[in-house]
Amino acid sequence: MASALTDKLSRLVKEMRGQARITESNVQDMLREVRMALLEADVALPVVRDFIARVKDKALGQEVLGSLKPGQTLVSIVNRELAATMGEGISDINLAAQPPAIILMAGLQGAGKTTTTAKLAKHLIEKRKKKVLTVSGDVYRPAAIEQLKTVTKQAGAEWFPSTPDQKPQDIARAALDYAKKHYFDVLLVDTAGRLAIDEALMKEIKDLHATLNPVETLFVVDAMQGQDAINTAKAFKEALPLTGIVLTKLDGDSRGGAALSVRQITGAPIKFAGVSEKIDGLEVFDAERHAGRILG
Ligand code: GDP
Repeated sequence: MASALTDKLSRLVKEMRGQARITESNVQDMLREVRMALLEADVALPVVRDFIARVKDKALGQEVLGSLKPGQTLVSIVNRELAATMGEGISDINLAAQPPAIILMAGLQGAGKTTTTAKLAKHLIEKRKKKVLTVSGDVYRPAAIEQLKTVTKQAGAEWFPSTPDQKPQDIARAALDYAKKHYFDVLLVDTAGRLAIDEALMKEIKDLHATLNPVETLFVVDAMQGQDAINTAKAFKEALPLTGIVLTKLDGDSRGGAALSVRQITGAPIKFAGVSEKIDGLEVFDAERHAGRILG
């Protein structure tokens, strides 16, 4: 598949014509183009540096120097390395727990947690044939609780009521009790976000995690967040043992470089991609396809 980057590199190689062979310094020029492409895709700078260093090792091993199409060869090394960094074998939800399997949703406000909670509920009902309960621990925004109620209904799951005067941990315990009594397979716990990281938020979600001991702790992050994704990811990784990432709003314009940043910072697999506002807009993350998108 020809990409903008492949074209650029081919042009570079053409400019080198006349020189007897590809040299180490030509490879450095090509790597500079790769670096630009990653930065244009909004991959965070420290992640780009790290990534380029890894690719450089591979590129300078005879693979690129000796090849007839050095531009394409470098792009395919980059593609492979991108996909390997972002990909994992199994990326579906882990439900291997004494039922109900608890899934805790974490992320900033607006990242898409509530929407993704309902999308996941629908996925688990339809693809895994599970009985799913949702509950909101967002006691700061009554509208968020109502929003979860509405989208849970669309998903065909059951919603457990909560109110702003309750403590998130009490809500979680009550929902868990209810889920056990009524034989739910899965309990999805939506949580409060903030516009930016703050300590109270992190303490609250840590406490919730300790109370619930979830089998999955999913970090929901907006693909449009670009460079900032790295700081958000760092803060959530420090607070919680993340088991997976959901990258939302991949239907937008962004080239999705946040995927690489967040994957590298958290070490957690990217399990799903949000691809529309609608309830069925959730896809299993495809690392190879996404590598192509990042390279443009
Ligand atoms: P929360 O504050 O993290 O719970 O975020 P919400 O679930 O309320 O989502 C914030 C906004 O992003 C809403 O307008 C959603 O419809 C929208 N949204 C969430 N996921 C996606 C997605 O994958 N694609 C698009 N286009 N919009 C999304």
